[in-house]
Amino acid sequence: MLQFLYSQFTRSTCVLCDDQATGALDLCSACLVNLPRNSQCCHVCALPLPAPMDARGSVLRCGGCIASRGPISESVIPYLYRPPADFMIRRLKYADDTKYGRLIGELLFQSVQTRYTTLPDRLIPIPLHSSRYRQRGFNQARIIARHLSKRLHIPLEESAATRVIAGDRQAALGARARARNMRRAFLVNNAVAGRTIAVVDDVYTTGATCSTLARSLLAAGASRVDVWAFARTP
Ligand SMILES: [Zn+2]
Ligand SMILES: [Zn+2]
Repeated sequence: MLQFLYSQFTRSTCVLCDDQATGALDLCSACLVNLPRNSQCCHVCALPLPAPMDARGSVLRCGGCIASRGPISESVIPYLYRPPADFMIRRLKYADDTKYGRLIGELLFQSVQTRYTTLPDRLIPIPLHSSRYRQRGFNQARIIARHLSKRLHIPLEESAATRVIAGDRQAALGARARARNMRRAFLVNNAVAGRTIAVVDDVYTTGATCSTLARSLLAAGASRVDVWAFARTP
């Protein structure tokens, strides 16, 4: 109890610079302003777009996403994987630093809130393969998804998707074998049938993993799949 009270009164320090934090975030206003925002980007793959565009009432798409429709309907990826966003992710991912998990979840929550009029029905964190989970002891995507679930009152549907092929075993394979393995990387059950889903991850790189899971979810009957991730690699 004492420890709980103590943490309530000491939570007002910025996690990046030790200055006084402001608002609901564990960040000071200067560090918040300096986060590398990905504000002008494609609403499907989050590719940064050069010119400012008016996207009121419509989904903004880059040339690639206009040319070919993939399995992902929309994405919210509000930051770029650059300092200090990359440092925050590494602290969460490799040090299981819970204060960064809370901060990343809260920043993503704020961006999601401004985008949606109707939120998805269920959240699914990108599952880790069991061997990776044993190695790390936690799934960073799950930490972010749990925060979002609490803040948005959307249930997690964690057991709906299982990763059956580990991503890091892929390196030694040829391109065709890799693509075939990728298609079978996730097992999805029919708990997602008729649901709108947001897949949650920490970093979005090529989008291959999210797209693969999205395809499997749609094949299992999901009616729509969006992606929410904290940062995108440029
Ligand atoms: Zn600060
Ligand atoms: Zn795009």
